[in-house]
Amino acid sequence: MNIKEVKGAGLTSEAVRIKLAHELKKLGIKNNQVIDLVSAMPRHLFIDSALMNRAYENVSLPIGHKQTISQPYIVAKMTELIHEMTSMNNVLEIGTGSGYQTSILSMLFKRVTTIERIKSLHDKSKERLTKLGFKNISFKLGDGHLGHKNDAPYDAIIVTAAASSIPSSLIDQLSPSGRVVLPLKMDDGQRLIKLKNTKSGLIKKIIEEVVFVPMLDGIQSDE
Ligand code: SAH
Repeated sequence: MNIKEVKGAGLTSEAVRIKLAHELKKLGIKNNQVIDLVSAMPRHLFIDSALMNRAYENVSLPIGHKQTISQPYIVAKMTELIHEMTSMNNVLEIGTGSGYQTSILSMLFKRVTTIERIKSLHDKSKERLTKLGFKNISFKLGDGHLGHKNDAPYDAIIVTAAASSIPSSLIDQLSPSGRVVLPLKMDDGQRLIKLKNTKSGLIKKIIEEVVFVPMLDGIQSDE
């Protein structure tokens, strides 16, 4: 998929896209490629028809199974945080959910591996993104705490559910210049954290307060 095809796929009017792009800029997103992509992505295709009229609001929305599609701002923010022009080959996403964040990653990285623990969300997103023409995504049903060793090392790892601690398997699967963004539970709420691998070890930066659904253990196969 390229950005032209993405724009063509939507019912999204130019006015709606421009409004969202403005909002993302106002909220501090600086990377123009990320702003363009997030505001062009037909987000209504990732949610149930009953909520479609709210698809371009900058809010998270329910996708069933007590889960949510991420807010466009947070997708843009997390994407911007892992975006480094020189190493955009291989990315791992934990928490496929609706596949909305996955679609953005797919347009920026050569290869995407995405893991979801709820079978029906995994199935639905795989079907949706395949139908939409995304070709560089490998969908895994599993517990993201373990990462996915077979496709490692990753230039970037993005976790879209709040973890209680930083899963060590994810750090082990990071490339020498790799970076991780994840929401981490703290005593007083969640914080978005960025970790960056360097020659002298991991550098940790606290970005901002966030609200994500919790990262849970194991696979959920029932409805
Ligand atoms: N990026 C998604 C956000 C989905 S919400 C989107 O834009 O739609 C977070 C997702 O993480 C949920 O689907 C939830 O089931 C999943 N999740 C939670 N814990 C997980 C784990 N241990 N492994 C994989 N996925 C997990």
